[in-house]
Amino acid sequence: MLKWLLILGLIWLVWRFFLKSKKSDEKQDKRKVGKELFNTSNTTNTANNHNTINSGHIEKIADNIFCINPKSPFRLTFKGITLEQAQKIRETLDKVQNYSESSYRTTNKLTYLLNWYNAKCIEVEDFIDNLRPRIEKYIEERKKSNPEWHTASEKDKEDLLAEFRNEAIEHVYGKTTNTVAIEILLFDVDPPPNNLKLDVRITQLLNLFAGDEELYNFYIENILLGTISKARRISPDHYHRKHWESLIKIGLARQGKDIPFEIILNSLRLKDINQFFSDRINKNFYRKQKAIEFVLSQPDAVEVLSQHIALREFFQLIVPEGIDINYLKKRHDYAYATAILIYDTYSTAYYTLETIEKKRIFSKELNTKIRFLEIDAQHCCRDCQKKYHNKKIRITSANLPPHHIGCKCFVDLALEE
Ligand SMILES: [Zn+2]
Ligand SMILES: [Zn+2]
Repeated sequence: MLKWLLILGLIWLVWRFFLKSKKSDEKQDKRKVGKELFNTSNTTNTANNHNTINSGHIEKIADNIFCINPKSPFRLTFKGITLEQAQKIRETLDKVQNYSESSYRTTNKLTYLLNWYNAKCIEVEDFIDNLRPRIEKYIEERKKSNPEWHTASEKDKEDLLAEFRNEAIEHVYGKTTNTVAIEILLFDVDPPPNNLKLDVRITQLLNLFAGDEELYNFYIENILLGTISKARRISPDHYHRKHWESLIKIGLARQGKDIPFEIILNSLRLKDINQFFSDRINKNFYRKQKAIEFVLSQPDAVEVLSQHIALREFFQLIVPEGIDINYLKKRHDYAYATAILIYDTYSTAYYTLETIEKKRIFSKELNTKIRFLEIDAQHCCRDCQKKYHNKKIRITSANLPPHHIGCKCFVDLALEE
C-alpha cells in the first residue's frame, strides 16, 4: 500500500514539475531550456522540435537501407529507400512528440510514404516471419480437431478458415489495438507484393500526389469503395469538393461533360429521371435501364438535363491505364498495416526514452536515485503480459520496451522496495 502511495506521489510530482517547466519554457529560449531540461547531447537532424528525445542520427546500413533511430531501444530499419526518404519517414514519426499530431494523421501520412517509396521495414517483415509458423501450426491443429472441417464444402471451409485465423492470432499473439494490422500482413497481403512492372506504374501514380497524403488517402478510399465506374454528385459547398477539384488538376478525376453521359444518368435516381422528362413520357419508367435508354434516344437529352441540374456537380475518378486496382489495394493495405505497427513501436520507444529523461530531471530535483522502471503490459500481447506486466526492470536494462514490433508496453518510474 505504502509502495503504491509513493509511486503515485512520485508520478504527481513529476507531472507538476513538467507543467511548471512547460510554462517557463514559453518565456525563455526554447532551445536552451530544452537542452537544460533534457540534457540531450544532440537533437535529431530531422525534427524541428526543440525538446526532441534523442534516438540518434539516421544510420546508413547498406545501399538503400537505413536505420532511422539507432539510439532507440528498438531499431527500425527500412530497405528500398534513399536517405532523403528515410528522413521524411523519421520526420513524420517524430510527430509523436508532444502530441503534435494525432496518431490517425501520422499513420495516414506514413501509409502514403511507405506506399510511395515502396519501402519495406525489415523488423516488421522479421516479426511476421517469426509469427507465421506459430499461427499456421495452430490453424493446422484446429483443422485436425474440428470434425466439421473434414466434411465441409469449399465455401464452408473458407468460413471456418477465417474463424481459425482469428482464433490463431488471439491464441498465439493476443488481442491488442494492432492485431488487425498483424492479420492483414499474415493473410491479406501474403506474399508481400513485389511486381516490378506494376510497382513502377504505381510509383508513377503516387508521384502525382507530390506529398499530399490527404489527397492520396481520399483517392484510395474512393477506389476501395468501388466507385470508379460511377459518377458522384458533389455540390460546390460539399465538404470534399476541394479534394475532387484537386484530383482533376492532377488528372485523376473528371467533371461534368467530360464524364460519359450514360454514367451520369446511371448515378441519378429513377424518380428524378422520370420527373425531368415528364413532359415527354406517357407513364413513368419502373426500370432504370429502360429510362436511361429512353433518355439516350433523345437528341437534346443533355440540354434537358442541364435545365434541372448542373452537370458540373458530377465527378468521376480516373484510374490511369495499366494500374491493377487489386495490386494497388494490396500495396496500400501492406503500407497501412506496416504503418500501424511502426507507429506503435516508435511511440512506445519514444515514451520509454522520455521516461528515462524524466528520471534524470527528477533525480536531480529531489536528490533521489531512481534505478527502476515499472512496466504496464496490459495493452500489449499475451507474451508481454505474462513476462512483463507490473514487473520492474533496471533503467540500464537491455530489455526496455518496445520488446517487439507493435509492442505497447509502457513504463513508469518506480521506487525501490
Ligand atoms: Zn507484446
Ligand atoms: Zn510489450
